[in-house]
Amino acid sequence: MVNHFLLNIFNMENNLKNFYDKISERSKNYIGYPVATDYDYTEIYPFLQYSINNVGDPFVESNDMHCKAFEREVVDFYANFFNAPKDNHWGYVTNGGSEGNLYGLYLARELYPNGIVYYSEATHYSVQKNLHLLNMDSIVIRSQPNGEMDYEDLAEMLQLNRQKSVIIMANIGTTMTEAKDHVPTIRGILKKYAIKSSYIHCDAALAGSYLPLLGATDFDFNNGADSIAISGHKFFGSPIANGIVLVKKSYKDRIGRSINYIGTLDTTITGSRSGINALIVWYAIKKWGREGMLQRTMTCLENAAHLRVQLNAIGVKAWSNPNALTVVMPKPPTAICKKWQLATDNDIAHVICMPGVTRAYLDAFVEDMKEALSVS
Ligand SMILES: *Cc1c(COP(=O)(O)O)cnc(C)c1O
Repeated sequence: MVNHFLLNIFNMENNLKNFYDKISERSKNYIGYPVATDYDYTEIYPFLQYSINNVGDPFVESNDMHCKAFEREVVDFYANFFNAPKDNHWGYVTNGGSEGNLYGLYLARELYPNGIVYYSEATHYSVQKNLHLLNMDSIVIRSQPNGEMDYEDLAEMLQLNRQKSVIIMANIGTTMTEAKDHVPTIRGILKKYAIKSSYIHCDAALAGSYLPLLGATDFDFNNGADSIAISGHKFFGSPIANGIVLVKKSYKDRIGRSINYIGTLDTTITGSRSGINALIVWYAIKKWGREGMLQRTMTCLENAAHLRVQLNAIGVKAWSNPNALTVVMPKPPTAICKKWQLATDNDIAHVICMPGVTRAYLDAFVEDMKEALSVS
């Protein structure tokens, strides 16, 4: 299959060929963004010939060409992974973490139309947009220097608005520093101020894919989450952006409408959804299994530790939050950020030791840093 595809590259139109060369070149120094590159979905390629569409609810059969049985297996896997209530969970394969966050907030708004959403200033940009789309009231909470929510600020804000329902957007791995908001602490605060109705959505875009494997489950359904969103294209890796959202089924049941035209329930954000994405996530789960995913995670954590040591040794103050693949450092010179495609935010930058980022790349990056420091 691969050979067949490679053969076709030589017959490509010039524009495509140029783009192919560029993208294959640029994918090499890609250490600043959280996408795995070690995947191989060759076995899925034959399905690209067909328009597989998982339109609407994965648990309600729709007309014709879908792979909802695969999608349901994915949802079941994650329900188990996140300790969702046995008979009260639901979910679907999304087009990414942002859509999962939108879904969680949508459910929260349907449950608590007058609720206020609390989220930290380190929250992903998709959340503000989602709140705008949903027209929800919100309060931004300060972050601690490591990127974690400032719980004292949260307590203060809650106290001022204690008559309103509380919707918490908890970060389980912030975008810049991979900091985790501590859900048990947040729940403790809700209890302390006797908040009557609350909803907790966990944005676990990157870290949600592996934290439970390390025994770090304090953000799961057992520990107070009402919904959890993750990105599939980050830790698993995928040529097509995707994700998974998991919610309590009783909440979802409030929003579905039956649509005759598609023969299913319209319980998802987008109508048509790529069946290929469901196949890709299913394939990744089957191929690695929990053990394989844990192995990948351990390799990434070891690489992150290695990078920190190497950077510290040349005087770069690199650090990570616990259980994080993300190594944070003062913003390197622009040329380095550009070459290695580092994401920067004010005065910091990060390298994310994703599956596929090898020691050789990390060491080459450290060499570049060393050189830049010696000339500056
Ligand atoms: C990447 C990311 C998202 C958005 O995920 P997409 O899959 O890009 O839509 C949301 N939250 C956090 C913390 C992220 O890192």
